[in-house]
Amino acid sequence: MSTVTLKNVYKIYENKEAKGDMKPAVSDFSMHIEDKEFIVFVGPSGCGKSTTLRMIAGLEKITKGQIYIDDTLVNDVAPKDRDIAMVFQNYALYPHMSVYENMAFGLRLRKIPDIKRDKKGNPVLDKEGKEIPVMRKLTEAEIKEKVMEAAKILAIEEYLQRKPKALSGGQRQRVALGRTIVRKPKVFLLDEPLSNLDAKLRATMRSEIIKLHEKLEATFIYVTHDQVEAMTMGTRIVVMKDGFVQQIGAPKELYSRPVNTFVAGFIGTPQINFFNGRLTPDGKLKFANDQEITLSKATMDKFDAEKIGSGIDVIMGIRPGDLKLVDNGDKATTVVAKVEVVEALGNETIVYSNLDLNGEQSLERTATSITLSAKLKSDPERHSKIFLDIDEDYIHLFDKETEVSIRK
Ligand code: ADP
Ligand code: MG
Repeated sequence: MSTVTLKNVYKIYENKEAKGDMKPAVSDFSMHIEDKEFIVFVGPSGCGKSTTLRMIAGLEKITKGQIYIDDTLVNDVAPKDRDIAMVFQNYALYPHMSVYENMAFGLRLRKIPDIKRDKKGNPVLDKEGKEIPVMRKLTEAEIKEKVMEAAKILAIEEYLQRKPKALSGGQRQRVALGRTIVRKPKVFLLDEPLSNLDAKLRATMRSEIIKLHEKLEATFIYVTHDQVEAMTMGTRIVVMKDGFVQQIGAPKELYSRPVNTFVAGFIGTPQINFFNGRLTPDGKLKFANDQEITLSKATMDKFDAEKIGSGIDVIMGIRPGDLKLVDNGDKATTVVAKVEVVEALGNETIVYSNLDLNGEQSLERTATSITLSAKLKSDPERHSKIFLDIDEDYIHLFDKETEVSIRK
């Protein structure tokens, strides 16, 4: 059983060149990770994911705050004594050693508590008849058992005698995982372990790691900049930006209830549509290109009336999958757009269109771009006029000034 707790953790890198620039790499990170959770830290490059992971591992000193593994404060505990294992993106295997030896290597350096024994393996007792505690190395048989068990879990038994250069990228990554699982650590830390693999292999390894997590019943903390990886792997996701935690929640929660525009924009493909607009208490929402929709009372009740006041500038978010292609503009929540590009992907169609009916066609997203993704019986023509109905159950509204959700 292993929990990890971070309390108001900060990291400020002090280097001479950056004198005066004391912007923390990680600010006020607090969270409690339950035993056997699969936590994903996600966010753009440089947002502090690796730094946080390295602080948990003990590879980076904590500037301020506390980290606990189970109930033990580990701020000053050496990495090797934290009972954690870390897998990096650049998994460096020893090239001259076989897969077996790569996996056995760490175990050979390890000592375990035992009692003093004679040559036959019987306990040697002290004068008072008590067993004598000693630290000893693992025997070859014990090492073999652990390596074989890990190899079986990872399905690399066939390759144990091969050298790393005779393995594919995915097999090498499995060996790198194997090196850590032989140790049976309490917590696994994985820092973008799949980013060197091609897309197809990444998808395979993704499900392998999920299965591995189930088999090992250990706590996993996984770092990635890829929101798809985060959404498919995490039991809970931590979205970070500029060293700050933005939101922590289950994938569904982040998707359906993003706390700010950053989370809304980061999670989900195709990306959410955003429009600047003005919302008044009667539910009228006037936005891009002077189009207007009216939200029902039930929908308005979900938002904070105090924040809306007599009217508020908002950013409206609506996901491409929460738009519906309809025949006319009769409903209060329907907008009209001009089709720019149609991508028929087979299982669904993505329609890139524009609320500005007279505007020049643009391949870049503009303030009036609107994307729909849906399963369509027939795809709309390019340049044609379409009606898009906004499913108001899934509308997201953010205060334009703070970019924070105005949901209650
Ligand atoms: P991520 O893993 O999310 O891409 P990092 O945790 O590696 O981000 O980096 C967070 C911030 O800390 C970045 O601004 C990065 O430049 C800075 N940083 C990382 N490592 C060091 C270091 N050893 N010295 C100084 N700054 C660092
Ligand atoms: Mg990183």
